[in-house]
Order: sequence, then structure tokens, then C-alpha cells
Amino acid sequence: MPAGGTVMLAHPHGFCAGVERAIGVVERALEASRGPVYVRRQIVHNAHVVADLEARGAVFVQEVAEVPERSTLVLAAHGVAPRVREDAARRGLAVVDATCPLVAKVHSEVRRYAGRGDTVFLIGHADHEEVVGTRGEAPERVVVVEDAAHAERVQPADPDRVAYVMQTTLAVEEAEQVAAVLRRRFPALSAPRSDDICYATTNRQRAVREIAAASDLVLVVGSANSSNSLRLVEVAEREGTPAHLVEDASAVDLRWLAGAARIGITAGASAPPSLVDDLVAALGGLGPLTVHSTGSAVEDVRFALPKEI
Ligand code: SF4
Repeated sequence: MPAGGTVMLAHPHGFCAGVERAIGVVERALEASRGPVYVRRQIVHNAHVVADLEARGAVFVQEVAEVPERSTLVLAAHGVAPRVREDAARRGLAVVDATCPLVAKVHSEVRRYAGRGDTVFLIGHADHEEVVGTRGEAPERVVVVEDAAHAERVQPADPDRVAYVMQTTLAVEEAEQVAAVLRRRFPALSAPRSDDICYATTNRQRAVREIAAASDLVLVVGSANSSNSLRLVEVAEREGTPAHLVEDASAVDLRWLAGAARIGITAGASAPPSLVDDLVAALGGLGPLTVHSTGSAVEDVRFALPKEI
């Protein structure tokens, strides 16, 4: 980075309301429980968040079968298939559900469409945990559609009884292209009443597009399994700006900074704000730095904790 560099800090970045709620759920469960608190899968897709909660006593497991009977189990923010809740009930577990309310909304759309006999196209990445959980609401009726080419060839049982929903963390423009193909092919297609891609995903993509246009390099703080963080890298690259996903400041390759006078910084919805502060401080350690905050979106969404805690 040349001397006198500039950091363009995207606003908003980092934690969304669903992630704050999910972390709060585990913290409250740790305070309230006399025994260990188990969490199925990563509570949110961020290695630092998981390591921090682990250090405070949370026990992360892959499956319900690993949890001792009658223990406390927290379900992660990405949501689960009904089968997982049934397994937990069979083991007598005290379940605290940290599913983001905006993911739960998509689940309820699937139940409504599938319940009236529609084939439900779920636009998303088939192997992502959120999609696995959403699909599990009606596996016999949900067809995951990954991209526009897939949308061109997908064949429902009855083309007049079709609907679509989306994964909450997709790239807005690409997802809209897939939906447009489905709308053209199936005029009877039902759509969600409000967007499934959530406010946090939309705002962070808009903000990163803005900083990418004004930067020589974009750094996105987030974990490699964080869907919304990966989309931020793609959105920046689509603006023609090189972009890298970094777990934290230590993951920055100094060669990326060569010749980059203006560095855009953002963070995925599951990345703690302190990691962004650390990254800015680390860049400041390389030479004089001016930091500009950009973007004007106001995020005042807050979700109440579940009544079980
Ligand atoms: S990214 Fe959106 S859907 Fe996912 S937890 Fe955050 S607010 Fe909820």
C-alpha cells in the first residue's frame, strides 16, 4: 500500500440482527443452564464467533444424536428441517431455537405453497445449511434451483401449480435473473409476498458495490463457509475490483496491497465488528491512513430473544 493510503469502510457491514440474536441466545443459555449447552452446527458461519462461545462453555455438535438426553440444545441461525426438531424431541432435549426469523419466514412460505400442492422452486445453493433446512419442510415438493441455466430446464409435476422462494443470502441480481427465467417459463408462478433475500444481505451488497467502484482492492472480513460474505466478494469483483475474503487481519497477503492506494473494507453479516477494527488498525500500522465511512442505509432491525430463554 503506498504511503498516505485511504480505507473506504462500507456501511453497513458486519453483524445483522439475526446473528446478534443467535449469539445472544447461546450467551443467555450459558448463563441460565446448570449443565452444558449444546449447539447443533456453527451457531453462525464465523470461526471467531464459534471459538469464542466454545471458550465460554458451549459444546458444538454436528447432529442431535451426539447430545446427551435431556440436555439443552440450541439450533443455529440457519434453520433446520422439521426432522431435526423431531429427533431432539425424541431425546427429551430442551430446545432453544436461534433460527433467524427471516429464515423462518421462508420456511413458512414453503409450508404454505407445498401444503396447497405446488412444486416449490427454492433458488439457492443445494449444499448450504439454510437450503438443506428449508428444503426439509417439504422434500417431496421442493426443487432446489441453483442458477439460470438450471431454471431453464427444471420440470415441475404441474406447470400451473408452481411457486418460488429464495435462500436469504444470495446475490440479489443473480437470484433475480433466476426468478425471471422461472416467471417467463411458468406464468402461473407464485412469488413470496416480500423479498426472501434479507435486508442485511441487500444492504451489505449495495454498500460493497459502492466502495468497490471507488477502491483499488476490496477486503471482505468473513469465514469461507459464510454465504453472504462470499457474495460480497463476488459483487465487488463484478465491479471490476480485485477482492479477497479474509478470516481476520492475519490472513491479508501483503502482496495484494502493492499499488492499492484505496482499500475498500466490509464484513459479512456473521463477522464480529472487532475484526474489522483490527484490520483497519493493521493497515494503519503499515503507514499513514485516512479512513472514510461510506453509505447511508439505516439498519434498525432488532429481533427479540425466543421466549424459552
Ligand atoms: S443474514 Fe439475514 S437471514 Fe441471515 S441471519 Fe442475518 S438477518 Fe437473518
